[in-house]
Amino acid sequence: MFRPQLVTITCPQCGVPFQTPVFSIIDVKRQPELKTALLSGQLNAARCPSCGRVSYIAGPLLYHDPDKEFLAVYIPMQANIPESERQKIIGELTNALMNALPAEKRKGYLFTPQQFFDLEHLVRKILELDGVTQEMLEASQRKIELLEKLLNLQGDEMAFNMTVAENRELLDREFFMILSDTIERYKALGQENQVKALEALRERLMPLTEFGQRLLKQRKAVEALGPRPTREQVQQAILDGDLDEAEAIAIAALPMMDYAFFQWLADRIEGASGEERERLEAKRDLILKLLDTLRKIEEESARAAARIAEELIKAQDLERAIQEYAPLINETVIETLVAELAAAQAQGATELAARIQKVLDTLQEMVSQAIPPEMTLIFELLEADYPAGTKALIEQKRELVNDQFIAMLDAFIEDAQKNSSYDPKTRDDLVRFLKNIRVQATLLARK
Ligand SMILES: [Zn+2]
Repeated sequence: MFRPQLVTITCPQCGVPFQTPVFSIIDVKRQPELKTALLSGQLNAARCPSCGRVSYIAGPLLYHDPDKEFLAVYIPMQANIPESERQKIIGELTNALMNALPAEKRKGYLFTPQQFFDLEHLVRKILELDGVTQEMLEASQRKIELLEKLLNLQGDEMAFNMTVAENRELLDREFFMILSDTIERYKALGQENQVKALEALRERLMPLTEFGQRLLKQRKAVEALGPRPTREQVQQAILDGDLDEAEAIAIAALPMMDYAFFQWLADRIEGASGEERERLEAKRDLILKLLDTLRKIEEESARAAARIAEELIKAQDLERAIQEYAPLINETVIETLVAELAAAQAQGATELAARIQKVLDTLQEMVSQAIPPEMTLIFELLEADYPAGTKALIEQKRELVNDQFIAMLDAFIEDAQKNSSYDPKTRDDLVRFLKNIRVQATLLARK
């Protein structure tokens, strides 16, 4: 694995300096998740810990795909680097890659990396190597533009409906995938308003488009099953439904898609004939394919998590390693570490177990440190009763009740007032509660 570099940047929005990892070498074979990040525009995105603003860090990038024997180097145009310096950077990156490769893998193409000055060109080249044609890219681009247009037209019903009618052929599966991805991206950025607008757009487009109607039909089939369907209900629904419905039900009832299920289905197929048999076989093939895809995704994410866990376990400077890998440390990594800890303990590998325990403890500690104590107090106050409970808490933690605390409370109140995901009554109650706390806190601070 190639370790990212920790760089310090200053948030362009709030001016707070913070450290963030920057990846400069992507080896697709070793860290496929970095390729995904690059293609989705999430590579080297730094989120300000103070205000949440995301900045993209443009730095040199070496991209290596050994299976395709493709090596590319991207050096940002705006960096304005003289040619000699450029060659030096390319040399350093290539050497770092070479040194990590076994001798038999050091092939000729590694000496002549293709140069890119524009990240978009590099991304396009990578997609092209994956079999994505120019026409496909252009079609995707048109769908992205259509998405933006429809988002802006939400208030103008006539223009909205006309645009939908004129672009029917673009409103397909891929369009809805782009829409879902965009929603996920804004969710990750915590941009609630964008998420709401996009979700509303999706709901509105569903009945108006052929693919959307399929999604609606699938949703209805799953809803009809209720929250806790029995095995028999799931089997019956798969028998009764068409292919789309059977697929949605299989996803919703995934743990039931086991050996017993396929045995039952095989018996049904055995007992059927003609068209009925073909329909059942098509459903079986579809569900098998679906399980296969999901298994591959899960394996990929488990492999990625295992690599990160290993890096953390063997790290010399643990805190630094955690900071470097922060963007890649997710729930699966934690689960992997917990499982490896249990395995080490079971095998009596006490030294390894202690090492893993230390990684977990340090992770825990660093996460709790990231939340300022004043913010923790606000969360605690939200759980308390007003006025007696909140007053007692404020007095108990009076050393935290300072200007910083009041400023955070004000920002919190402002956020709550703007947050459209609450219904108006909940929001008003919350804002009133927070303002009451503010009065209590200010009175105490004056004492
Ligand atoms: Zn900031």
